[in-house]
Amino acid sequence: MSKRPSFPVELSIVIPLLNEAESLPELTRWIHRVLAQHGLTYEVILVDDGSTDTSWEVIEELAETDTHLRGIRFNRNYGKSAALNVGFKETTGRVVCTMDADLQDSPEELPELYRMITEQGYDLVSGWKKKRFDPLSKTIPTKLFNGATRWLSGIQLHDFNCGLKAYDHRVVRSIEVYGEMHRYIPVIAKWAGFRKIGEKVVQHQERKYGTTKFGLERFVYGFLDLMSITFVSRFRRRPMHFFGTMGTVSFLIGLLITLWLVGEKVWYSWMLNLATRNVTDQPLFFLALTAIMIGAMLFLTGFLAELIQLNGANRNDYLVRDKVNLN
Ligand code: UDP
Ligand code: MG
Repeated sequence: MSKRPSFPVELSIVIPLLNEAESLPELTRWIHRVLAQHGLTYEVILVDDGSTDTSWEVIEELAETDTHLRGIRFNRNYGKSAALNVGFKETTGRVVCTMDADLQDSPEELPELYRMITEQGYDLVSGWKKKRFDPLSKTIPTKLFNGATRWLSGIQLHDFNCGLKAYDHRVVRSIEVYGEMHRYIPVIAKWAGFRKIGEKVVQHQERKYGTTKFGLERFVYGFLDLMSITFVSRFRRRPMHFFGTMGTVSFLIGLLITLWLVGEKVWYSWMLNLATRNVTDQPLFFLALTAIMIGAMLFLTGFLAELIQLNGANRNDYLVRDKVNLN
């Protein structure tokens, strides 16, 4: 018989938190109530992302009586992505869910998310806060952000940045969430080959305690991150294809203009014996010069990128999805 992995618990819940002391007791009680009702075995992994309030004391206290609870505390604030990444590494469940600690996401959604992964075979299911309880200054830019991400990634989700998500254990084992890339986990997952990505409309509440940890700068950074993730997902292993193509285009434009200028000069002054401007007096000349130089620089960038990529420790990190009769 082939070996199948077995799991200590059915569901791991990863919760990143920064200064959410007031919410934690209520949140953990609520999770327990819902999951006990559904008879799911679970663990809750609380990742304290360098809170400066009493969050960690609260976690320690809760952990004394609650055997499902596990806690990790960062030495300082590293951001939600880092917290998720570390939490993921500790999970042992068949399915991994993430949620925010601020009680905006409802634990009532967890059993259904679990079911979608195990029974419908989704790799990833993202929550969709169809009816949001957030200020307009946040919901309107969010729409733009989601539209742009949908367009660039080809993933048809309405709400990429929803904190409430569920993953097949394989996904969290294989992906790295770094920088502020928690907004783009579905994109990272897709590029790692997890293509069955679904969506579930989830309840959203107004923040009950504490304040939001992200300001408007999230949209500027989010946009830049979208650019880099799109680039990296396509060309990480073959940067020359990107830089080389751009370089060739630029170089060709420069070359064509140069040929045109020289041809024109030869035709008018030598063949027709007309007085003409110097080539260097023409605006087009400078355009050609710039285009050729940019082309050459793009090529150099491409070669350097190839060398860097070749040196990367994970240049061969192919992802194996399943094995049979192998360890
Ligand atoms: N969070 C975190 N580290 C940070 C910022 C936020 O762990 O540097 C947590 C925060 O405590 C919450 C979740 O990420 O559990 C979502 O943050 P928040 O509710 O402030 O975001 P919003 O709902 O306003 O998008
Ligand atoms: Mg929130």
